[in-house]
Amino acid sequence: MSGIEPINTDILIVGGGVAGLATAIHFADLRDAGAFGEGGAPLPCNILVLEKGSSIGSHTLSGAVIDPSTLKELLPGVDPKDFPFESPVTKEEVYFLTPGRALRSPLTPPFMGNRGNFVVSLGKLTRWLADIAEKKGVQLYTGFSVSEIIYEDGRVAGARTLDTGVDKHGKPMDNFQAGDEIRAKLTVLAEGSRGSLTRALCRRLKLEEHSNPQAYSTGVKELWDLPEGAFAAGRVIHTLGFPFEFNHFGGGFVYGLNGRQVAVGIAAGLDYTDPTFDPHAALQVYKKHPLIASILAGGKLLRYGAKTIPEGGLHSLPRLYHDGVMIVGDSAGFLSMPSLKGVHLAIESGMLAAKAALEAFQKNDFSAGQLGLYDALFRKSSAFRTLSATRNFRAGFGRGMIAGAFHFAAQLITGGRGLTPSGRMKTHEDAACYSGLSDIKRPFSRKFAKELVFDKQLTFDKVTDVYFSGAKHDEEQPCHLHVPDLELCRNTCIPKYGGPCRHFCPAEVYEIVTDPASGKKDLHLHPSNCVHCKTCDIKDPFGNIEWAVPYGGDGPEYGEM
Ligand code: SF4
Repeated sequence: MSGIEPINTDILIVGGGVAGLATAIHFADLRDAGAFGEGGAPLPCNILVLEKGSSIGSHTLSGAVIDPSTLKELLPGVDPKDFPFESPVTKEEVYFLTPGRALRSPLTPPFMGNRGNFVVSLGKLTRWLADIAEKKGVQLYTGFSVSEIIYEDGRVAGARTLDTGVDKHGKPMDNFQAGDEIRAKLTVLAEGSRGSLTRALCRRLKLEEHSNPQAYSTGVKELWDLPEGAFAAGRVIHTLGFPFEFNHFGGGFVYGLNGRQVAVGIAAGLDYTDPTFDPHAALQVYKKHPLIASILAGGKLLRYGAKTIPEGGLHSLPRLYHDGVMIVGDSAGFLSMPSLKGVHLAIESGMLAAKAALEAFQKNDFSAGQLGLYDALFRKSSAFRTLSATRNFRAGFGRGMIAGAFHFAAQLITGGRGLTPSGRMKTHEDAACYSGLSDIKRPFSRKFAKELVFDKQLTFDKVTDVYFSGAKHDEEQPCHLHVPDLELCRNTCIPKYGGPCRHFCPAEVYEIVTDPASGKKDLHLHPSNCVHCKTCDIKDPFGNIEWAVPYGGDGPEYGEM
């Protein structure tokens, strides 16, 4: 890839995570099964996957318990015993936590059961899928950031990678290299949660105009190494309650990977009102709870990371296609919130998109009218049935945990409709949910002030945790976090909300500094810390932060997480 001549391909897949790889693998299988194009010509076979991480899996972070059903459908020729899973789920427990106690639920709540599921390292799974895709002839390039969609006569005609060798002010340097223009008959967006191209596409084409606003959580996770046998492989713990308030949707988890390593984390709904809520701090406080602290005793931190999770479900999906483009996986919002699982739906959405792509190539028709087959297939799929049965789940919890439990019970009885006459409960933009700082009686930062002293054994400050994420960025490039109106930060956001970005960012990218002479507060950025979670793009109260792709290969290095 040189940046001089346009590159032509048949399918361009942006994102080398599970959804993008499933699309590539299934399309390659359908192609190789002998499907022919117009007039009996062999179908075109160029499938190009671009991944911004330095390697496949380096930006992959997840809850790591998966339902294997769709992976079996994707790879019918592979014995499930050969899937690269860490362990079958051997034991599952659900607890309600008070600050000092853990009350075990005698029942597993509906949809949360994990019988037949597996604990996985998603990084390992994506690397394994990438090997399979490459053996099927898929071209896979890592370290390429795709920054722009190419439109031609209103249709998507491909995408452009980011220029490199540009200084902080946007001026070309000696090592300047123009981005590549990649022309494709069909582009598939598989960027993960809050993808920047997907966002731009949805805005431009109003693909979300009939959808609920997407509801997100921020998941913050650490990987720990424990003494052998301290936490069994396949043991799965989910918790509700502490450290979350009753009006805040969220929970915690501990997953045993292989008899030594455990993933411990929290997922915090971003529709919270308290501008001082801090997901990284919430994880540190969570680890101090006696149940969690006893599990982690004698262990050591291996890795840290964060990502956002699209939770809105069926009613928050955008239109999934337009002329020349389809959206799959987390980019669209394929995630079942009650079970906190998206991998099997990401795989299924990729397979459905591949089927629709096959017919588009057979007919040489990449119009929205033809690609609408993807949506039609989805509406007949098990993914649709899964999402439909819980379609109001997250919206119900937007009114607090108790109201949410009540609404959920009603949805179970009514097959997902609940008590709303229209059958569709509304969600709100997460950024619009804040209360002013002065209206919060007991802000998170004050409530847990005493607990937030970090001993660097059980608990860690943000900067130390960022070190364990492996995040790095070329510091010469233009800042990938666009804050166009700093006056708005100074004069409105900081006085009213206290600068919530310094709290919601789990990587200490945003710092409020006070000028010693004038006493004025200002925003300073440390973009090299960024772990690409996208929380700032979602939760800034004024929509004054836009996350854009930095250079390819920059960002976290999650490795085995
Ligand atoms: Fe996440 Fe934004 Fe902070 Fe980066 S700057 S870690 S995307 S909140």
